[in-house]
Amino acid sequence: MYEGRNVSEGIGIGTVVVVSDPDLSFEPHAVEDAAAEKERYQAALKVFCERTQQQADHMKETVGVAEAEIMAGHIILAQDPGMTDQINSMIDGGTCAEQALVETSTMFENMFKSMEDEMFQLRAADIADIRTGILAELLGVELVDLSMLPKDSVIVVHDLTPSMTATINKDHVAGVVTEVGGPTSHSAIIVRNAEIPAVFSVSNICAVLRDGMTAIVDGSKGVVIADPDADVLADYTVRAEAIRAEKSALEAFRGKETVTADGIKKILACNIGGPDDVAAALDHDAEAIGLFRSEFLFMESKELPSEEEQFQAYRKVASAMKGAPVIIRTLDVGGDKEIPYLHMQKEDNPFMGYRAVRYCIDNPDQYKVQLRALLRASAFGDVKIMIPLVTCVEEVRAVKALVAECKAELDDEGIKYNDEIEVGIMVETPAASLIADKLAQEADFFSIGTNDLIGYTMCADRGNDRIGNLYSVYYPAVLRSIKNIIENGVKAGIMVGMCGEAAADPLLEPLLIAWGLEEFSMSAPSVLRARKTISQWSKAEAEELAEKALVCATADEVKALLSEAAR
Ligand code: PEP
Ligand code: MG
Repeated sequence: MYEGRNVSEGIGIGTVVVVSDPDLSFEPHAVEDAAAEKERYQAALKVFCERTQQQADHMKETVGVAEAEIMAGHIILAQDPGMTDQINSMIDGGTCAEQALVETSTMFENMFKSMEDEMFQLRAADIADIRTGILAELLGVELVDLSMLPKDSVIVVHDLTPSMTATINKDHVAGVVTEVGGPTSHSAIIVRNAEIPAVFSVSNICAVLRDGMTAIVDGSKGVVIADPDADVLADYTVRAEAIRAEKSALEAFRGKETVTADGIKKILACNIGGPDDVAAALDHDAEAIGLFRSEFLFMESKELPSEEEQFQAYRKVASAMKGAPVIIRTLDVGGDKEIPYLHMQKEDNPFMGYRAVRYCIDNPDQYKVQLRALLRASAFGDVKIMIPLVTCVEEVRAVKALVAECKAELDDEGIKYNDEIEVGIMVETPAASLIADKLAQEADFFSIGTNDLIGYTMCADRGNDRIGNLYSVYYPAVLRSIKNIIENGVKAGIMVGMCGEAAADPLLEPLLIAWGLEEFSMSAPSVLRARKTISQWSKAEAEELAEKALVCATADEVKALLSEAAR
């Protein structure tokens, strides 16, 4: 048995296919005709970009828009003038295209690697992937195409790059095992959304496994078993079948209302990154959109999206949801969400810096473009505005004043909008949690952002493995905070939802029911499972469990208690 990191749940059983790195060696040589060499480079770059665009289009169909954007981002990076200018000038100096590409891209890769931020680490991996693609084009080497693998293949590879992931035929791949990479890498995100069981960072696995061996990929535990004996294989086959059966049993919850065992109505919503994600939300039977991360619109654009562009995107979602609530979060820039053309200053502590609502209030003209687009879209459905990273009442008032200004402008221009549009907040900082009573008087709804709330409460960066043990929703400090937020929202009579990952945690859901959470917002594949869990708990039973959970002193005790009670 080989241990690694569990990056995508589920059990996959199949035949090993070891994917070797392509031979991209070459002899550096001096060039005399620099113009011809630059043309050769441009031709390779063009083919690379066209191929990557095809992969992005394919991914949009098969996995999702956010994943396709990762590939589209490769095209932008590959054409970045900083990199191409440097390559051209090296070729002008007599270096061959291959060498100019390798040296320049390695310099950029190392620069990104030296930066701590997780975004930059991802960028470094993207550059390495781009280098492989263009170099293969220059050398005429065929890269691995994972679309042709036979059914039930277990891919074993040193590093699964996003471009390799883009060629995967998910119906033929039982599992993926890599030697490097972690749960937050782009490839991990892609395999997770494609629902392929995967274990990453299993050291030396390419040397140990051979083509044709049988392997079990236990993506839930993060282990790989090679050539299992008959008992182990039988045991895992039963477990894999149970997972499949559970998935198909969940179909019974399709089209049903989301209610607790004692009939209390809840709302099951989805988190999306753009209009194209609505199809998956509806496909998985979501009743609302609990979080539209609008920053994706900004990230995929080369410049600030205009009011009209934003309006079209928001209207599309509002119309597709046919009157069901659509909560759109205003620009949550900064921290781990970088938008290059905003040229924001590098800060020592970006997660506590100039970001999200702080940036928006400080740039009111730019912010009003988004608020006007949201107001205009509110004429086409139940659009609600959500403010990210709130820490004080002043921020909510400042945003509401800007909304009022926009409304007055639209009135003057005779443009329609919903005058009753709700303006709510993400509660994702300890400060907001501590003044939840005050904020509930200002905001029309709360949505708890546990991804950030856990991090800020526990002072634990979610991307830092060394303190990964502290990044957990089960710590009493986090639970008390969540309880406080929900109870204050309920007391003030406003809707309280949760759009952080914890909303989809079956262990936590009874506690959320006990405290009165109304909306649970999550990624599309979790919706039916959450509807089932909610149906299994009455408020009284959930309250009994919550009381016990609040007495626990440690996260382990809480988790053990909730696991024991899980249905
Ligand atoms: C959160 O912080 O819980 C959240 C939903 O927002 P994001 O993950 O986009 O920061
Ligand atoms: Mg957040």
